[in-house]
Amino acid sequence: MTNERNQVALQDQWNVATLYPNIESWEKEFSQQVPSHPAPRWPQIATYKGRLGESAEILKEALELQLAIARKLITLYTYAHLRHDEDITHNDHKAAQNKILAALHDFGQETAWFEPELLTINDQTLEKFLNTPQLTPYRFHIEKCVRIKKHMLSPEAEELMAMAGKAMQAPHKAFSAINDADFKFGTVLDGEGNEKELTHGTYGLYIREQDRTLRQNTFKKLYAKYQGYENTLCELLNGQVQSHVFNAKARHYASSLDAALFPKNINTAVYKSLIEAVNSNLKVLHSYTELREKVLNIGPLHLYDMHVPLTSEIDIRLPYNEAEDIVIESVAPLGTEYQNLLRKGFKEQRWVDRFENKNKRSGAYSSGCYDSQPYILMNYKEQLKDVFTLAHEAGHSMHSLLTHTHQPYQYGDYSIFLAEVASTFNEELLMRLMLERAKSKEERIYLINQKIEDIRGTLFRQTMFAEFELWIHEMAEQNIPLTPKLLNDQYYQLNRRYFGERVVIDEETHVEWARIPHFYYNFYVYQYATGISAALALSERVCHGGAKEREEYLSFLKAGSSRYPIEILKMAGVDMQSPLPVASAIKKFGALVTQLGKELEVAKV
Ligand SMILES: [Zn+2]
Repeated sequence: MTNERNQVALQDQWNVATLYPNIESWEKEFSQQVPSHPAPRWPQIATYKGRLGESAEILKEALELQLAIARKLITLYTYAHLRHDEDITHNDHKAAQNKILAALHDFGQETAWFEPELLTINDQTLEKFLNTPQLTPYRFHIEKCVRIKKHMLSPEAEELMAMAGKAMQAPHKAFSAINDADFKFGTVLDGEGNEKELTHGTYGLYIREQDRTLRQNTFKKLYAKYQGYENTLCELLNGQVQSHVFNAKARHYASSLDAALFPKNINTAVYKSLIEAVNSNLKVLHSYTELREKVLNIGPLHLYDMHVPLTSEIDIRLPYNEAEDIVIESVAPLGTEYQNLLRKGFKEQRWVDRFENKNKRSGAYSSGCYDSQPYILMNYKEQLKDVFTLAHEAGHSMHSLLTHTHQPYQYGDYSIFLAEVASTFNEELLMRLMLERAKSKEERIYLINQKIEDIRGTLFRQTMFAEFELWIHEMAEQNIPLTPKLLNDQYYQLNRRYFGERVVIDEETHVEWARIPHFYYNFYVYQYATGISAALALSERVCHGGAKEREEYLSFLKAGSSRYPIEILKMAGVDMQSPLPVASAIKKFGALVTQLGKELEVAKV
């Protein structure tokens, strides 16, 4: 029986009271920060409209006013969303969350003029402003905003672009509608002839089952659906790609890739060297598929055999307190200061909302804001994967804590490009400790296999996606029409190259491109691959290095958004513009495959 929220022991709950003692005091603060009169709710913001170019002093005042209001609102939001997630049916907390979301929406509207106006200040004037002592602390913050200036169009053209923007969302929306709502996959038969319901969710489960008939049926049924709609899905994807091409051309970027990466100051070399590094090391992935073939011993491997675990699930149970202890122990390579902060967070400050209760939000995340301690939502169930989840979320939390401690508010966040580096790094530290401690061969095999699958899914698979994504954009840029046949052929070639000659690439999978939502995100997936590569390369560096390597890594955790992500990673010791970090991550993958082969006593592959 799951507990009701009010039955959860205090030490198992996150300490939300450090934000506000209770919802009544939150309400009081809300009414002080968010005027109840109709918009504009913060009329003082509008008094700066049209005046940003007047002087450095005025620009600073306007910026600080905006940041100060945002900061208060975010703190209010943090409390409301944490309370809401404790029990998503709780009416007062739901109402509080909706109220603050509405306030944030209004705030967004009332400050929407700020950035466009900033972009109209001429270069010399702005440079003069940024050289004044008043604006020095905001220099980089403002530079990031005006970075896109040379790609901005005339006010009339910008208005047109904004108007066209809405129409251009149609392909993505239509894809979501057909994929998430309209598509029904019916049922599939398992090896014993039982009928099972097939959904996006059960697909992921069935494809990992030992029952090969179930895996095969699942696979064929799911892809048959996409094949049946390949013309429509091709047009939707084409529509999305065309909108990226339009945007890039209208704004005078060299390519769609450049248009997606330039605003974040990520060089297209990062993207291209990822693809290059993975491609020149595909042999390592092929040796893994060969090992898989030998261990499973079911003849040539099909793609539906790629996810079934190589060992049966081992039943290691770890009580929550022991999970905290081992996670704390695992971060020792980061030094005692880091370790002590994490220990204090777990043991004294109650960062973690530990267990499931009735109507609690599912999954796990790390949250908090500049003026709060970190908060981690867990649904801890004593399984090994939950321990890794705790390590992952604690990695995010420590990143936030160190950034908040060392950066002013305007640099107190960090980009997605960096976020997953900090969390994956800590998972890797835990993996090292667990492997050292593993009591049995089964345990080691299980852990190594899990890590291998992790790297395969995040580094190899996402890079394959990134490569496909780049290719469809390049085709469109050369005015080559995207047809289902062209997409299927290219997708088949990629699968063949990535999985190697021995694996059977069933005809159904040629259409896998049609079910990947991320192709609608505008060059997003490569960040998964660069993130895990940077994390693996950095963990190698820190674990085999000394104080210098450790301090450099910690300086990345303390840097927040005070520099561009690529520069911050360079400070930590990895240059993502070179293929080296990716190659180093793949080398690690190769070593794991060799180790797994040895543990499984498979003759050399
Ligand atoms: Zn994460």
